[in-house]
Amino acid sequence: MKTFSIPASAKSWIDIPADSPFPIQNIPFGLADIKGQGETMVAAIGPYALDLLALSEAGLIDDSEFPVLESFIDMDREKLSYLRQVVFNLLRHDHDALRTREKLQKRAMIPLEKSNLQVPIPPMAYVDFYSGIHHARNVGQMFRPQGDPLLPNYRWVPIGYNGRANTVVASGTPIIRPKGQIKAADAEAPEWGPCRELDFELEMGFYVGSGVDMGRRIPTTQAEEHILGLVIVNDWSARDVQRWEYQPLGPFLAKSFATSVSPWIVTLDALEPFRIEGMPQDPEPLPYLRQKGNPHFDVQLEVSIKTGSMKTPQVICRSNMSNLYWSIAQQLAHQTSNGTPVELGDLYATGTISGETPDSFGSLLELTWKGERPLTMAETNERRTFLHDGDTVIMTAYAQGDGYRIGFGEVRGTIKPAL
Ligand code: CA
Repeated sequence: MKTFSIPASAKSWIDIPADSPFPIQNIPFGLADIKGQGETMVAAIGPYALDLLALSEAGLIDDSEFPVLESFIDMDREKLSYLRQVVFNLLRHDHDALRTREKLQKRAMIPLEKSNLQVPIPPMAYVDFYSGIHHARNVGQMFRPQGDPLLPNYRWVPIGYNGRANTVVASGTPIIRPKGQIKAADAEAPEWGPCRELDFELEMGFYVGSGVDMGRRIPTTQAEEHILGLVIVNDWSARDVQRWEYQPLGPFLAKSFATSVSPWIVTLDALEPFRIEGMPQDPEPLPYLRQKGNPHFDVQLEVSIKTGSMKTPQVICRSNMSNLYWSIAQQLAHQTSNGTPVELGDLYATGTISGETPDSFGSLLELTWKGERPLTMAETNERRTFLHDGDTVIMTAYAQGDGYRIGFGEVRGTIKPAL
């Protein structure tokens, strides 16, 4: 499969600050809904979202090769890789086609804050894995204090569940506090009412590009050819609802009310320089899950909270994607191993990516250890165990290169009162 790498030394004619998440080495893709024009695929460069449909109409992108740029509808990994190469050529410092056309720049280079970014691909299927081993261990310790915090299957099978696809929402979408059945430990019966233990989960996710039919499977060695790229995922979670409903079939209404995704699909091509081996897998996985090389990615992750009375968000977690036990290739291979079909736009989240130390835990459940150790907001002295109405959660991610940064932008959501 053809991929495309952009050298660290490449420069654009657009002035891009060194700490921008979107240097010319990145070129991630998203979906914008532009006022008066409708939806179009966009690529991020510095402070702009590049309107790919406008560039196509102006003849700068060949519409015989890319006839549909209103959405990702006919994309696969190889085609997106080629589109990234085309966009790179329009942006490189020694290329004139867009640099010299100021009128077209005004139309096609939309300031990011005006680009009204959407869910890049509204998924038909959404699956949430549980591949963050430190998260799994923490949760095990909390809820099964006696015995091994990891269940016996954890190192054999990538655990996951089918989530709710039609509540995957764009960054910035308000999150309405869900209601549900909650049973206090000392109560005889549950009550139904607003969730009191609303939480976030710091995750990454991948979008499927080309799928496979029912009955076929994707081996680990080919899995990445089926993946368009990565986004940040916030798996909002109602802990009190979850605790009561999850046995024996797992999460249901505690998770299905909302999942937020960041707006930019960062391609695996852009992340290629940041491959790492990841943690050792012991015992050796079954043959259908085995893989060689460096299947993980060194992506730094951060979570901040801003309460309704704070001016500046406070960082409450720093973690890294290397804390995943199972790689994205293993996750996709596992999903299809029984003949489950996958298709363009299916979204797979990794599971909460906690690190080993308390300042790297990827959920409030862990950061406050079930609510026993509240966090204090330095600016306002407010304390938090779980989320209050008016709180905003912001997640960011980037891979740090030599003099540039492959950023994901952010995914944010503000909690609104229950209806
Ligand atoms: Ca999750």
